[in-house]
Amino acid sequence: MRRTLLALAACTALPAFAVDTAPWTQPAEPHVIFGNTYYVGTKGLSSILVTSPQGHVLIDGPMDENVGRIEANIRKLGFRVEDIKLILNSHAHFDHAGGIARLAKDSGATVRATAAGAKELRQGGDDDSDPQHGDVRIYAKVEAIGDVTDGMVLRVGPLALTAHVTPGHTVGGTAWTWQSCEGGTCKSIAYVDSLSALAADGYRYSDHPAFVADFRKTFDRVAALPCDILVAPHPDQAVGKTCKTYADAGRKRLDEQLAKESGR
Ligand SMILES: [Zn+2]
Repeated sequence: MRRTLLALAACTALPAFAVDTAPWTQPAEPHVIFGNTYYVGTKGLSSILVTSPQGHVLIDGPMDENVGRIEANIRKLGFRVEDIKLILNSHAHFDHAGGIARLAKDSGATVRATAAGAKELRQGGDDDSDPQHGDVRIYAKVEAIGDVTDGMVLRVGPLALTAHVTPGHTVGGTAWTWQSCEGGTCKSIAYVDSLSALAADGYRYSDHPAFVADFRKTFDRVAALPCDILVAPHPDQAVGKTCKTYADAGRKRLDEQLAKESGR
């Protein structure tokens, strides 16, 4: 039971018992975030569509059972699933990547990630370097290409999304930034990965000092992102936050985790 609760709490910064996971498979109305950027996820789990006449980019495909809802949302907005050319991911846990294999099959899109992210996706989340390994559900393995590096710009037609490596919640965590324009105004949109330090029983962040150092660099990197609009894999976690305050919350959570591990 404890394992189940922890698995359901996978990407939140809240104690397991405080997480309301029921909405995760509930449909949500698709809507424009800004310009050509749309929310096509469910209640509580983001899936982001960035569109162009030459094809679309989809970021995150949460939970296999949500695929039908995501595809219905895309069609409801007037777009074709088959026009998705590229699928990206925030981090390779089931609640953000469990539907990617099927979405890639249905659309014919290529999945690209960093080497670390692709390794996790190809294992269906069954990665023993994951702080939550053993507590998080595994899912259909994704044939991801691991050619993305920090700062790389990925293009589909006129779309240009920049990768930012943000390890910490997982080893392969990645943030994505791009510009969307509407009525002559352009805004920087930042889709920033979960920054919560959560660990399975037996995993201690303090046993991995290099990883902790990378996690701290992630907070600095996220705080400095171009970020007129912040979107997070769990959309509620970004509400009212900037990239800087989102990073601050993650840093505080990591410090609390390290304090807990040291018995303070
Ligand atoms: Zn997660």
